[in-house]
Amino acid sequence: MATSRQKDRIPVPRGILAAVVAVVVLPSITLVTLGLRLLEQDRSLEQRRQTELAEASLERAISALQKDLAETQRRLSLGNAWPEPELAPDAVLLRRGTGRFLYLPEPPVPPEAANEPFADADRAEFQAGDPAQALALCLPLAKSTQDTVRAGALLRIARLHRKLGSLDDALEAWRLLVAIDTVAIAGEPAGLMARRARCRALEQAGRRRELEQEARQLLRELQATRWPLRQDAYLDAVEQGRRWAGVDLAAPPEMEKQAEALQILWGRRRAEEGGLCASGFTLIWHGDEALLAGPRFLARYWETPHGVQLTCEGKLPAAGLTRQPALTGLPWSITAPLDAGPLPEFSTRRTVLMAALTAMLILIAAVAYFAWRAITRELGISRLQSDFVAAVSHEFRTPLTTLRQFGEMLAEEPDLPAETRLSYYKAQARATDRLSRLVETLLDFGRMEAGRRPYQLEPVDAAALTREVTAEFTNEPMARGFLIECLTPGRPLLVDADREALGRAIWNLLHNAVKYSGNHREVRIEVAAIPSGVCIRVVDHGLGIPLPEQARLFEKFVRGESVRRLGIPGTGIGLAMVRHIAEAHGGHVEVESTVGEGSTFSLVLPGRG
Ligand code: ADP
Repeated sequence: MATSRQKDRIPVPRGILAAVVAVVVLPSITLVTLGLRLLEQDRSLEQRRQTELAEASLERAISALQKDLAETQRRLSLGNAWPEPELAPDAVLLRRGTGRFLYLPEPPVPPEAANEPFADADRAEFQAGDPAQALALCLPLAKSTQDTVRAGALLRIARLHRKLGSLDDALEAWRLLVAIDTVAIAGEPAGLMARRARCRALEQAGRRRELEQEARQLLRELQATRWPLRQDAYLDAVEQGRRWAGVDLAAPPEMEKQAEALQILWGRRRAEEGGLCASGFTLIWHGDEALLAGPRFLARYWETPHGVQLTCEGKLPAAGLTRQPALTGLPWSITAPLDAGPLPEFSTRRTVLMAALTAMLILIAAVAYFAWRAITRELGISRLQSDFVAAVSHEFRTPLTTLRQFGEMLAEEPDLPAETRLSYYKAQARATDRLSRLVETLLDFGRMEAGRRPYQLEPVDAAALTREVTAEFTNEPMARGFLIECLTPGRPLLVDADREALGRAIWNLLHNAVKYSGNHREVRIEVAAIPSGVCIRVVDHGLGIPLPEQARLFEKFVRGESVRRLGIPGTGIGLAMVRHIAEAHGGHVEVESTVGEGSTFSLVLPGRG
């Protein structure tokens, strides 16, 4: 059953096509270009704003850090201003003679062990070659209250015992010497010198276990920073200790790093006061006072605004806006990131812009779509109208030709027999009749279209009316040779209808059934009561209608493509009138059709009350 609408496939002239494309494409391109340019401008504006913000946060960070640096230097000038817990875990205060460094760039030099009190003993040992005498001279001085004298005595006692072959006594003297931290022997802390001497003696004596213990003790004392040492002295002692101990007793890496950083930074220290950073450690000094601070100490006590990064010299600063130490007087390069994400005001603006752009594009597309639809529809209608004009002209031409031909024949041959003359007159009357029916139909359709066709509804017996119209139609010349069967119930089927209009609708359906029957010469018309009212059905077994065409048949001027090709004349208003009339009666018309099998048109009218 035909319900859908078929799309009009009317070729659109190229000019119109080009105009529509121009109307759609040009503004769209312009709009997109402008939009993109605007977005680009907005983005560069945002970048500038981000740079400004980064600069501001950089300036804030620099002044905060400069304040912290000045404060640190002030505290350094006060001496030991940080209690140990405040420095933990990765800061060390560097003071002469103290500190927790494995080695120092400039260790304090303790006083040398005394020599003068041992002039006699040394003479006895070296000139007289009498170690026992020398030992006797030294022993009393080992009890001196002065560290320098005691150290000088123990040093000699140990040596003399060795010469006299008493290793254990020598070891004991060195053991006592180890306890003296405040004296140097030939620049080396006395304690360290004594430990190493004990190790060496034990090694020579082949006393391995004691040697290992002694060497481990030496390494432990080195790690505990018992003696302030230079880097080379420390490394030398550690290396020797490890060899003797036969183990790799390493110092905590944090301490190694601290000592190394201090070594590097101390050498580079220039002005009276200032700061330097290397290997992750920052050295801040004021005169001889200095603080070596690791990253954790800085993070805890120094105020760095969010996002700003500090980079030590020699390392590549993070991406962003960077100030070098030379410009700021700070120990680090300071970087503020530039890509802190989109700024809210800009992203809102961009969203609005994008939305507006999209809305405009949608609008253009919608306008284009509707314009396109209107154009194609107009083109369709104009084609239908021109088809209609051609069809109507053709319909008029046939009877007019008949009239003219018979008129001429009657005029040219006055002696025609009366019978022939009568048949000519009859032919002329039929042509006139056809003409007037055509004119009537057109005028009627015009009135219907304009809404000026008045419908006078009255109770009408649809069955009786159908019989009358069918009888009248059967007498028409076009129905000649057709078997037209009319099936109606014996009782009246009343509907509220305009007799003339309903009669015309039935006539049109019969007319089409005959016109499109092809070689089949049987048509049936039946009237039946249905639940919603009355149904008048016209059935033929003719050409049938392709499904895609069915949907539009009831529109004015629309004709089937196949019938047009077959040259069957028509104006395309018959079914439009049927639909008009059906709807004016509160009913409708339907079609069921199969190509080559025939069609059934059903006119459904509401029953009375
Ligand atoms: P016309 O018959 O003058 O062309 P109509 O409005 O009466 O105009 O019919 C429109 C079209 O519907 C016809 O051109 C034809 O293609 C198709 N049609 C109508 N009735 C039939 C039918 N009974 N069988 C086949 N096709 C039909």
